[in-house]
Amino acid sequence: MTVYADNAATTQMSQTALDTIIPLLRETYGNASSIHSTGQEALKILDTARSKVAAALNAEPREIYFTSGGTESDNWAINSAAELGAKQGKKHLISSAIEHHAVLHTLNKLKKNGFEVTLLPVTNEGFVTPESLKAAIRDDTALVTIMQANNEVGTIQPIKELAAIAHERKVPFHTDAVQAVAHIPVDVKALDVDMLSLSGHKFHGPKGVGALYVRKSQKLTPFMEGGAQERSRRAGTENVPGIASMAAALEHSVNNLDANIKAVSALRDKLIAGLPGKLPKVILNGAKDGNLRLPGNVNVCFEGIEGESLLLLLDMAGIRGSSGSACTSGSLDPSHVLLALGLPHGTAHGSLRLSLGEFNTDAEIDYILEQVPPIVERLRAMSPIWEKISKS
Ligand SMILES: *Cc1c(COP(=O)(O)O)cnc(C)c1O
Repeated sequence: MTVYADNAATTQMSQTALDTIIPLLRETYGNASSIHSTGQEALKILDTARSKVAAALNAEPREIYFTSGGTESDNWAINSAAELGAKQGKKHLISSAIEHHAVLHTLNKLKKNGFEVTLLPVTNEGFVTPESLKAAIRDDTALVTIMQANNEVGTIQPIKELAAIAHERKVPFHTDAVQAVAHIPVDVKALDVDMLSLSGHKFHGPKGVGALYVRKSQKLTPFMEGGAQERSRRAGTENVPGIASMAAALEHSVNNLDANIKAVSALRDKLIAGLPGKLPKVILNGAKDGNLRLPGNVNVCFEGIEGESLLLLLDMAGIRGSSGSACTSGSLDPSHVLLALGLPHGTAHGSLRLSLGEFNTDAEIDYILEQVPPIVERLRAMSPIWEKISKS
């Protein structure tokens, strides 16, 4: 049996997304800026996609900018706010310690260019507290950027409350909602955010396409210079088939959101409840309350073993999981997210993330539950540190 349980890294394209992109790639090759009818046909599809993405977020079509994905959207939102802030002498940025590298590395670069960055700590379940934001915000704060849901441990932040604190001090608020959009309700008006990032391949759309929502009253500096595409903010001929396919995937997910949340969280809860099995020293990372955790996220630490070895053996058994995030696997540093949650280095090394989606089945969960414990036992039997840990 092969079980794909790495949906937080990327997802398989849905039938809806495929049925949308394939004929467009073949037939709708026009440049949406051309004035002839082949171009206008592409423009119509682009406009429809923009309306669909806007509707899914409760935004207006003119507030949606298409990008190449979550990374670009995050870079753009942060760099734009930093540039606008600097013009008013505001060179302080606030974020959290558990952001995706698309956010953290952008902030690091700004730090080298003279900005001051405050990374808010999180609780041991991964929550940013409103009090810590209140204490960190200053008169020269140019942006607060905090992710809606974490890609490694699945914790869902109180975005509405955090955005309200930023707004009290007239500071714009951005959220990386790449893991949230199409998985939990995301309404830009209800959350009251100024900018929000999303990415198509995290919800069964194609890779290399995403969007940035920017509230119409929020200023936005151009990301790339060139043609007048995307309201002259993001030049370059639009990826019309990819954008339309992403919009179709998003519309489909949002239309089925309640049912998907129910089905996927049932799989998650069964996996969380069953995973320790008879194994001692298994820790669940992230939020304990299922309503404050992404429906598809399971993240556990098996003390005494290396996550990398576990992944390899699981892969041989047909189970595709991840340790930490895809971006950090390959390096021996433990995940910055697990460390921020307060886990010791050794424990953070033995982490396993299984991220589920609508395509996973109950039989697959049974298979995971049958395969994981004996593999962990085998690794522990070979582990030089397990004997000591097991007695503590
Ligand atoms: C995947 C991911 C990104 C990056 O999105 P890409 O489309 O792969 O560039 C950013 N933030 C989070 C939280 C993610 O999970």
